Amino acid sequence: MKTYKQNADFLYLGRKLLAWYKIHGRDLPFRKTNDPYHIWICEIIFQQTRIEQGLNHYNRFIARFPDVHTLAAAETDEVLLYWKGLGYYSRALNIHKAAGQIVEDFGGVFPREYEGILSLRGVGRYTAAAVSSICYGERMPAVDGNFYRVLSRVFADEFDVSKSTAFSYFSELALRMMPGGEAGHFNEAMMDLGSEICRPRNPLCEQCPLNRDCRALQLGRITELPLKSKKQKTTALEMTYYFVEFEGVFLIKQRKEDFIWKRLYEFPDAIPREWERFIVNQRSVSHKLTHKDMTLHFFKVIPDTREAFELFAESHGYLLSSEEASHQKSFPKPLENYIKMQANN
Ligand code: SF4
Repeated sequence: MKTYKQNADFLYLGRKLLAWYKIHGRDLPFRKTNDPYHIWICEIIFQQTRIEQGLNHYNRFIARFPDVHTLAAAETDEVLLYWKGLGYYSRALNIHKAAGQIVEDFGGVFPREYEGILSLRGVGRYTAAAVSSICYGERMPAVDGNFYRVLSRVFADEFDVSKSTAFSYFSELALRMMPGGEAGHFNEAMMDLGSEICRPRNPLCEQCPLNRDCRALQLGRITELPLKSKKQKTTALEMTYYFVEFEGVFLIKQRKEDFIWKRLYEFPDAIPREWERFIVNQRSVSHKLTHKDMTLHFFKVIPDTREAFELFAESHGYLLSSEEASHQKSFPKPLENYIKMQANN
């Protein structure tokens, strides 16, 4: 006996989706361009950020770095500054490095082929497929969580999306649905359907163009799909910081490119033992990073003399910053909040 999926008319579903997209697709500013640089930046920004939240950031970023040459020539600190508020700063570092790669390895011209785009720093299969299909019409499905969810539900497919083979499996399904010459629009349609209609919780099935064909809807299995067996483990992480302040000025340093929060600014993580008597208060906060549950312990330290403060800064290579000057640097979110809190005290 044939399964539902074997009987399904894939192209029919793909065409229905496209017809819906042409009427209901989101009217987004970056959809008015085929410039691969712009599409790449927006794909990176909107991977973890909702469109409404990220749009101002995207516009500001593109206004300051309108092309790959401007971005490649910029200082890392400034790129991080324009990324402020989006989180995932490693992405900003990667696009900065990738811009340098485009200038050096591709003569300053954004690569046209999927493989070339995939070779850029920080670019994965999803982003390479999105850019190559939207800008160059390459027949590559931009498979992400939206594809997993929509396809699992439409076909009531129990393929485990946490498996390493899920990307290839759902790419194959999507390719069968993709009408010829419409790769970019098809990918955008799936993005829109997945984020606006076939949402993880409370999907709007009555507005869905695929509702007559959707097996999960017919079988009442929407909440079970997509199937995901493996949960990634989270690890606990504790960090201690000393907010060493003297008359409104405090000490900071830039992190290296290892571990977390690469190249962001932070406070000293140690003080001389004899300075423990200068600790005036302590505060602990929780913070979540992908797969990490963090606890940060902040100790506020006010040394007794300016000389001691400056000598400590100089001997350990710390920079001096005021609250106002700190706006020109990028800090991890909990440290940024701590600075704000100090300023309001
Ligand atoms: S009918 Fe509902 S569950 Fe099925 S694809 Fe559409 S929104 Fe998703």
